[in-house]
Parts: sequence; structure tokens; C-alpha cells
Amino acid sequence: GLDDLRKAVGRLLKRSGPYEAIVKEYIRDIQRALISADVNVRLVFDLTKRIRERALREQPPPGVSRREWLVKVTYDELVKLFGGDDEPEVKPPYTPYVIMMVGVQGSGKTTTVGKLAKFYRSMGYKVGVVAADTYRPGAYEQLRQLADRVGAMFYGEPDSKDPVSIARRGVEELKKRGADIIIVDTAGRHGYGEEEALLKEMQDIAAAVKPDEVMLVIDAAMGQKSYDLAKRFHEATPIGSIVVTKMDGTAKGGGALSAVAATGARIKFIGTGEDVDEFEVFRPRRFVARLLGMGDLESLLERIERLQGVEEFEKTVAEMVAGKITFRVLYRQLEQMRKLGPFRKVLQMIPGFSTMLDSFDEAAKVSEEKMRKWMSIMNSMTYDELDNPELLEQRSRVKRIAIGAGVEVSDVRELYNYYKTVKRMMRQLRKRKDILERFAKMG
Ligand code: GDP
Ligand code: MG
Repeated sequence: GLDDLRKAVGRLLKRSGPYEAIVKEYIRDIQRALISADVNVRLVFDLTKRIRERALREQPPPGVSRREWLVKVTYDELVKLFGGDDEPEVKPPYTPYVIMMVGVQGSGKTTTVGKLAKFYRSMGYKVGVVAADTYRPGAYEQLRQLADRVGAMFYGEPDSKDPVSIARRGVEELKKRGADIIIVDTAGRHGYGEEEALLKEMQDIAAAVKPDEVMLVIDAAMGQKSYDLAKRFHEATPIGSIVVTKMDGTAKGGGALSAVAATGARIKFIGTGEDVDEFEVFRPRRFVARLLGMGDLESLLERIERLQGVEEFEKTVAEMVAGKITFRVLYRQLEQMRKLGPFRKVLQMIPGFSTMLDSFDEAAKVSEEKMRKWMSIMNSMTYDELDNPELLEQRSRVKRIAIGAGVEVSDVRELYNYYKTVKRMMRQLRKRKDILERFAKMG
């Protein structure tokens, strides 16, 4: 199952031997894990093909091992498999907002109504629920009790057999009672393979209540079969979102999630247990990070991001050493520094630079606040000034810029002095053979 992904990563980091052999074994582990989680074989092979290609072709940033890079690549590709970068929008765009639940019998609709109601209550919304399942004995009572437990308003007609009218009246009534979010529970008496009839009933109720969102509930145990259901549903209602329930109880969860993601439909929530609290917004990044072992992975990803930032910064410095220093270049440098943290620390990370630190202590101690000020000063410069910093020898320009940026003349002078310091620094760097060679290699 999906749990095996973490083990695959653990084994990868421990293995020794030639890199290509390690990649091969690792890919086999990943394939096994995903296929046992019921992910479609085609999807698995496409995914592992991309991982393998990237593993063998891409060069990790300096400071990151190839194996670590392989984990990062796996993470990226799994995120894509489970729905990509986008986080679902769960806040209703307006109120009152009507959500209609659909899904086959036993998939977890009524339970999910309770979970949703609790979720939205905790966000401060007034929530109402409508019991429009007239087929299942006890459905009315089940929802009434759930509503009670989570503090939601309830509408139902225990003796009626007309779900369409109940739904219509329920939505009207709950709107009158001031509900911000109204959730309509429906029946799913149609068995597997009878989704056509389900979609028909869905359309009848939808026509009556005009929901703002139709939410399809899929049992994770459906695995790859979720693809067809989600696809047809997605085509029938462009306003759809999906909840995958019972992620706790099956090895097929990976199959359901990836199959739904493959249709392009949006998974908004997953259910992870019978209790009303066992429910979460589905965020592919977070989900995958957890699969792979969150703690370690998070610090690895942070480190990679940081090292990529340093690499970018180094390229800027290389450019500065090679060419003319302008305020434009300094602006970019400051932007990168702000992301990376204190200049001193950044320089320490670049071999060969640390030895120069002492002679440029001032430049290395630029504070975050000062960087921000300097950037706003540069925003007040003309193109001419940005390209030719020496123009700031003219007092009138310095004054004009200071007024434009809302700072003191001394602030502008300070920036100009920083420019001169950096220029001096670069002149010294140009004499350093080791550093020039390093830059040359970076290309
Ligand atoms: P409905 O027929 O679609 O309304 O389904 P129900 O909401 O009545 O749920 C059917 C069964 O699935 C009940 O026993 C629920 O407790 C259970 N169930 C629903 N969601 C989950 C979940 O996320 N995890 C687990 N383990 N059970 C769930
Ligand atoms: Mg139900």
C-alpha cells in the first residue's frame, strides 16, 4: 500500500552501490508500493519513467546528494499524481451557499454531511442540513442526530416519500432561518454499475434546489473504479467536487485518489474514519509529504530550496564579477538575499567567499529593514540612474530620489556607499583565480 512508499525512501537512503543500480531498485520499490495501493498500472509506469529520467539526467544543486534529489523528484511526481499543486478552495465564495451530496449507498454521504457541517461550523458559519434520503430506513433519524451533535440546523419530513420536494422546501426553509451553508443529503440506493440512474436523480434534485456545488462522495475501496464514476459525474456537473471517504480502511486509497485526479475533477476532502472529526481538506502536497515521512522530507525540501537560492545568488554574483554593476543588478541581489537570510551566512555557504568576509563586514550586515528601504529607493530612480549609479554623485538627484521614496537623503547616500563597496568587492573578486574558475564552471 501507500505506506510502503515511506519504506522505499528509507531503503533508498540506506543503500550503497553504483547510483544507477540504486535507482533501479528504488524504482522497483516505488512501483510495487503504488501498484499494491491499486494505482493504475499505466499511471505507475508513466510516473516511474519520469522519476527515472529525471534521476539520471538532472544535476542536484551543490550540497544536495543525488539520492536526496531523487526523493525530491519522487515527491514532485507524486504530488502531480494525486492532483497537483493547487489547494482546493473550501471557503464558500458567497452565502447562502447550497451543497448537494451525491454518491452510491454506503459511500459515506450522510457521515460526510455531519463532518462538513462540523467543519464549516468551526469556521464560524451557520450551517443547515436537509434530509432528502427517503429510501433508507432510519436515514432521517441518522442525520437528525448528527445535526444535533455538530450544532447544525436540520430540516426533514419523516413521512414524505418525495425527495425532490423535501430538498426544495428544506433549502427554502433553512435560508429563511439564516443558514450560510446548506447541505442536502440524498439517497444513493442505486447499486454499483447503476450510476446512470443516480445521475438522473441527481439532476432532478439539482434542478429543484439549484445547488452551488454538487459534491460526489466516493468510497476509497472503489479504487481504480473511481475513475469512471468521477468522470461521468464531472461531465454531468461542471460545478462538482469530490470527497473520498474511508481512506483509513483500505489499501486501495491510492487507486481512488489517483484515478479521480486523472479525470481532472477536484478532490476537496478525504474521510479518514467514522468520527465527525476524522476528516480533512485534501492538499496533495501535504498528503504526499506525510506519505513519504513528513519531518525528514520537510527539512530536506527546505534545504533544497535554500541551496537552489544560493545557486541563483551565486549566478548573480558571477554576473556582477563579469560585468558592470548597476542598481538593477543590486536590486536583484537584494531580492535574493532577502529570501536567503543574512548576507554573511549566505557568503559562508559559498566556498572561497568566507575568507573575504572580514574585509567587507559592513556589506555583510545589511538588515532586512535596510534592504527593504533600499529597494524602495531604487524604485524611485529613473532608468538612467538604475543603469548608471555614478549619476548619484549629483546632489540634486539624491535629493529628488529621497523625496520620491519618502526617506532621508542620508539613506540614499548609504545605498550609494553600499554600491561602491560592492563594486570594490567585485574588483577584488576578479583577482581571485579560484573564484573565477568556480564561476566559469557554473556556466
Ligand atoms: P451513505 O449511505 O452514503 O449515507 O453512507 P453513510 O454515511 O451512512 O456511511 C456508511 C458507513 O460508512 C457508516 O458505517 C459510516 O460510519 C462509514 N463511514 C463513512 N465515512 C467513513 C470514513 O471516512 N472512514 C470509515 N472507516 N468509515 C466511514
Ligand atoms: Mg445516507
